[in-house]
Parts: sequence; C-alpha cells; structure tokens
Amino acid sequence: MSTEPLPIDEPTTWPLSLRVAVDICRGLRAPALLCWGPEYRLMAYNEAFARQLGPTRPRLGDPYEVLWPAAWPRMKPRFETALRTGESATYGDLAARYAAGIVQQYDLTCARLLDDGSEPAGVLMTLQDRTPQLVEQRHRERLLRLMTAAGRSLDLEAVIILLLDSLQETVGSDSISLYLHEDHMVRLMGTRGERPPDIRAIPIDDDRLPARAIREGHTVVEDTLAPESAVGGSAPFMSQGRMRSILVVPFLGRRGAFGAVAFTGHAPHPYGKQETRHLEELVEQGGAALENALLYRESITALARLRALFAHGQIGVAIYDASDQFVCLEHNSGFLDLVGEHFRKLGSIVGLPLRDLFDEPSFMAVHAVFEAVRQSGEVVTIDEFPAVLPPDPRPRYYKWRLFPLREEHGDLAYLMVSAVEITELVVGRQQIEELAARAQARADEFEAVIGAIMDGVIVIDAQGSITLVNDAVRRIFGLRATGLISAADFLPVFHLRDPATGQPVPLGQLPGRRALAGETVLNEIRLTCLPGSSRDLWLSVSATPLRATDSTIRGAVITVRDVTLDKELEREKEDFLSVASHELKTPLTSAMGMLQLAGRRLGRGEIERAQAAVREAETQSERLRRLIDDLLNLGRIQSGILTLEREPLNLSELTTAIVSRLRLAHRRHHFYLALPEAPIWVYADSLRIEQVFDNVLGNAVKYSPAGGEVRIDLERAGPSAVTYVRDQGIGIPAGGGKLFERFYRAGNANARNFGGMGVGLWLSRQILEQHGGRIWLENTSPLGSVFAMVLPVLDQPEPSGTLDAR
Ligand code: ADP
Repeated sequence: MSTEPLPIDEPTTWPLSLRVAVDICRGLRAPALLCWGPEYRLMAYNEAFARQLGPTRPRLGDPYEVLWPAAWPRMKPRFETALRTGESATYGDLAARYAAGIVQQYDLTCARLLDDGSEPAGVLMTLQDRTPQLVEQRHRERLLRLMTAAGRSLDLEAVIILLLDSLQETVGSDSISLYLHEDHMVRLMGTRGERPPDIRAIPIDDDRLPARAIREGHTVVEDTLAPESAVGGSAPFMSQGRMRSILVVPFLGRRGAFGAVAFTGHAPHPYGKQETRHLEELVEQGGAALENALLYRESITALARLRALFAHGQIGVAIYDASDQFVCLEHNSGFLDLVGEHFRKLGSIVGLPLRDLFDEPSFMAVHAVFEAVRQSGEVVTIDEFPAVLPPDPRPRYYKWRLFPLREEHGDLAYLMVSAVEITELVVGRQQIEELAARAQARADEFEAVIGAIMDGVIVIDAQGSITLVNDAVRRIFGLRATGLISAADFLPVFHLRDPATGQPVPLGQLPGRRALAGETVLNEIRLTCLPGSSRDLWLSVSATPLRATDSTIRGAVITVRDVTLDKELEREKEDFLSVASHELKTPLTSAMGMLQLAGRRLGRGEIERAQAAVREAETQSERLRRLIDDLLNLGRIQSGILTLEREPLNLSELTTAIVSRLRLAHRRHHFYLALPEAPIWVYADSLRIEQVFDNVLGNAVKYSPAGGEVRIDLERAGPSAVTYVRDQGIGIPAGGGKLFERFYRAGNANARNFGGMGVGLWLSRQILEQHGGRIWLENTSPLGSVFAMVLPVLDQPEPSGTLDAR
C-alpha cells in the first residue's frame, strides 16, 4: 500500500478499485463516506451524508483524524478492525441532535476496500438511520416506567412531576407546561424549562391554545408566530412575547379531554407530521397514568365525603352482626344521638346487644324486625316506631330502615340500621290531632246547642256570606234538613218587608248588614213570603255583631223567630173580642127591650102580651147565659182547669129532654128522635154533655133558617154510643176541615149574618175528647149536614153514688 497521498484532483490516476468504490459511495442512498490510504484520507462522500452535516463541507483529501478529531479515537479502531479482518462491522451510535430535541440514532457500518493488488487499502463507512426504532423502544421503556410509577403512586402531584420529568428528558422544547381542566377552568399544574408567564388559570372557553386544545379534543399548533402576535390578551398562548412556536396536545381520557401539555420554543419550528405524532404519543401515554391518578383522587374525595356523612350525618347508622344477639359492630355519632342520654354518655354502643338498649316491649318489637330481615333478607322500613329507651319512660318515635348486608358469596353477614328520630314531629302531630279533636268537640257542642235553639240562628262572616245555620232556620224557611244551603235558599231572609208600610226593607237596613256595621238589632218584626206561598210569614229578627278578641267585627249572628202563629192568635183574639162583644150585646139588648115592652104592657093591663114579652126576654137571657158559659169554658179549657164531674148518665134520657125543650122553642122545625130500645148509659159530666148536645142541635136549627127536619139518631155501636144529628139547612162549604178549631166560622155563617163566635164546635170537641169520645162532620151538602158524636158506653151503670171526678 502506497503511503503517498493520491492527488485528489486527478481521479484518473487513482487505482481502478478506488474509482469504482467512489462511484458506489456516491450512488448510495444512505449517508456514506470513503476513506483511503494509511491516513484514512477522505476521498468521497455522498449527498445524503452532506445533508447530515448541514452547511459545512469537509475538505476532500484530508485525513479523517484532521477532519473529525473528536470522533477519531472512536473511529480509528473500527477502521483498523475492518482492514484487518475484512469483515463489515456495525456500531450503534449517536450522530446528531436536532432542535426539536429529538436525538437521531444511527447504525454505523465500516466495510473494507481492497486496492488493485487485492491489498486492504480503505474503508467505506455508511450510516443507517435507527431513530424510529429507537424512539419506539424509548416509548416502551418510558411507558413501563410511568405505569409502574403510576401503579405505585396514585398521588396526582407525583404523577404530574413524573410526567413532566420524563417529557423534559425526551423532548428538547424550551418549555413544557402541563394543564388540567377542572370546574370550567384550565389550570397550570407544572412546568419544565423556562417558566411560562404568570397566568395560572384561564376559563375553558378562552381563546388561548391550551383551552382550545382541550375544548376541541385535538392537537393545536402555532409554529411560526411573529413576535408581536404573541403579545397581549389575544395571544394564542399564556405567554408574552418570547415564544415563537407552540404545540398543545390534549390528554384524551374516558370522559373526554381533561388536560393538555404545551411544548413551546423561542424559535419558529415547523412541526412535521411525524414529530407531531411522536409528541401526541408521549402525551397519550402519560395521560393514562394521569387519568388514573385523577380518578383515584376523585374516588378518595367521594369516599371522604361518604365517611364524613357516615360520621357526622343527621341520619343514625349502625352495623349489627347477624347473630341471635344482634351485637352492634359499628355506628356513627348520629346513631348514638338516637339511643338516649345514658348511652350517649358512654360514647359508644359497640359490643352491646340489641336487648341492652330498650325496655322489654320495645326490644321485642325491634327484635322481631331484625329477625324478619335476617330470615327474609329483604329491606324493611318502619315509618313511625315508638320505643322506650330507659331510663326515660316517655316513648320516642323513629323512622328506621333495616338492610341486610351480604358477604361476597351471598350469605347474610350484617344488618345495617339507618334511623332518624321523629319524636318532635309525631308529638307535634299528636298535639295537633288532639287540638283538632277538642276543637271538633267544641264545634259539635256548639252546633248541638244552636241546633237545639228553637229560634233560627244564621251566622254570617264579615263579607255577609252564610257560614252556619241551625235546624230551626231550615224549618222556618222550609229548607232541606241536611246538605248545603245556597244563597238562593235564603232569598226570603233578604226580602223582608216592613209590616207597618208593607214596603221592602232596603238592603243596607237588613238586620245582618246593620250588625256587620256594629249595630245590635233586637226583635224587629218583619214580614216575608216563602217561595211558592202566598201566605205571609211573620218574623221577629235580631242580629248581633261577632267580634274578635281585638274587637274587630268578624261576622254576625242573626236570630229569626217565626211569630206568624202569635200574630194570627193576636188577630183572632181581636176578632173574637169584637165578635163576642157584639154577640153578647145582641141578646142583652133584645132581653132589655122585651122587659121594657112587658113593663109597658103590664101598665096597660095587657097581662098575656106582657107574659109573651117576658118569655122572649127569658129566651134571650138563656142565649146570653149559654154564650157566657161558652166563654167561661173556653177560658177554663185554655188554662187547662176544666174539671169534669163524671157520673153514670142516661144518654137516652138526656137527649129526649133536650129535644123536648127544642120542640117548645122552635115551632118552625120538625124534630125527629130515634132511640134504641135499651137506654144507653155513659160515664160523663151531664152538664157538659148537655152543653155539647145543645151546641150541635142548636147549630142544626140555626143553620136551617127555612126550618125543615132535624133528625137525631142515638145508636149503640159496640162499645160506643153514636149520635147522628141531621139537618136540612144551608150546608157547609168546602174547607170545613177547620170546623172544630177555635174561633173558626165557615163562609156560610159570615155571609148570611148568622150570629155566633166560632167557639161552639171547638168546645164540643174538647169536652167529648176529655170524655174519651169524638165528634166529626159525617156529611154535608147544600141540602143539609150530618154531625156525628161518640161517647164510650158504660155497660154496668151504677144507679147511685158518684165516682171520683176526673
Ligand atoms: P158559631 O157560633 O159560629 O155557630 P160553631 O163553633 O158552633 O160556631 O160552628 C162553627 C161554624 O160551623 C159555624 O160558624 C158554621 O159556619 C158552621 N156550622 C156549624 N154547624 C153547622 C150546621 N149544622 N150547618 C151549617 N153550618 C154549620
């Protein structure tokens, strides 16, 4: 091998083998160079190698040692080995470092070149880019490290530090920042390299890149920023001024993007596809660990909250074992609050069986529920459970629920009680119920009282609406006995008339209205008329305001009394007095006239004519006596002091005597009397019975002014003696049902001016009824009337002696 360097400008002078090798070197796609001769002078390199070197170009012909002195010690033995052994050797080697921080990795191969004499003369060195494989391997290693670290520690801070460290180690950015998204804010959690400006958090809807990347869920990049665009609020990053390239990769978790990593640089840096993908993979790997840590932190917080709830919650919770004893294994302070002062002081009931908490009956009840849950394995809820916890004898009330808790293989292991005390609630409700019952009782009492009042009571509220009426109101106004009453039912109450003028009372003057205005109205007599009736109803109305304790008027009580009957009686009495005075005056006047006539006739010596006048005076006096008798009896009966002097009385005999007397007095009438064969005896007051017969027979005569027959039939019908009195008089018009009422006179009597007071038939009925008998109108027509009278027969008359008068 020649030691002389070959002239570099004259390849034609080179050995053939070298020229071929140079051609090969230049033609290789992989970076390659060729060194020749004992000094390993650089004879050729290709384009690919030149690209690796950047703008500097090595001088051809210079020895390797001169060109790359730093690498020479490493390279020399490789070249010599290649020359000596003739075998190509490959060495893994670092070859270059780039701005983005990605370290290029090459495999370096040295192959021996022979000269034309087949002697070893040079080395062809080629480079193989191993970076992708290396990156792959690094990823795996880093992932492993992160996973182990994350598995070891779920501490969020530790994972963040680990992640940032490993990113920094791998990536050569000027600054790496990690952000997390929580509560609509994107927060800076840590930085490596140059610190970002002091903006620690931005809202998720902010324009800056970390927020955008998280929002959009993919990588965002601004890699050629002009200096001014990075300034101020509109800047794409939380940076001021110095950053010229930014790439933000979001962490994509199970629930979407939850954070991001930003890589920033001072120089513009166009991120290629491969580089971006590489960074995304790095972030993705770290994201998994970070998400685990986040989830762990969340569950820890949830657990802590649960613990706090268990420990300090309002609800008492306790765990019991499922043995026969039901021993308490665990409970919170809330449960202790439920079990009474005694145990509260103890501070714990752990280890105590159920039995120790309650009195016997309460224990039995609770135990039954525990037993039921143990048997059935079903949840039981008790809504209102009274229990006595000694020493306090008062029952306390609980709402509680008992849950069976199972082992993994399904066996019942524990019972969990959750309970709240509702004593106040229950006692409160009981008090309200008691009050309500008392109020109801009082209301009932009140209603009973006003229901019993004979007067109608109407209660109205301040607006004048009716709130209450009693039964008497319903009776007076003819309303339904029960059920709601509408305002329409009460129209008669509001349509009152003044009896003096007959005019309607104005609305504002109605007693209720006046009471609402504070006035007290006492017994005002008013007229009204019920719907569908033409008869006037006389009312005595009073009204009083109802005042609250502060004396405001809350409503009014109106009392209504139906005084129609009183009014009618009053009128009857007036009518009667005028009739009676007229009736008494008539026979008295004519008796006096007759006596004066008799006196004058005696003076003239006309004895017989004087006697006739005296007889007429006697008749009138007799009529007067009867009228007075009637009046006296009327008074006696009305005041209930009519006494009967009863004795056996031969009714046949009495009737015969009366008829004989009538025959003498009334010549124009023909009297016919039919008697049974055996005399009929009754037990009666003969004077009163005579009065009755006088009345009925007298009417028969009086109301047949044209004379005619008056027929009297006395018959025995079983235990009764019946007397029929028939006349051929004027008859009684329809509506004679009131014939036997006091002061009643039918239209026939008034029309034709028959004298009388309307008392006779009433008296007759009273007297007969007091004897256990009856009287009725058997028949009537314009051709005459038939009256019937009945008295109980006395079967064994005692000829003498008097029975006690009734
Ligand atoms: P008075 O004093 O009016 O006769 P009474 O009580 O005896 O009273 O009779 C009541 C009314 O009954 C009479 O006013 C009359 O209208 C009617 N009356 C009674 N008896 C007869 C009769 N026999 N014929 C017709 N009307 C009678």
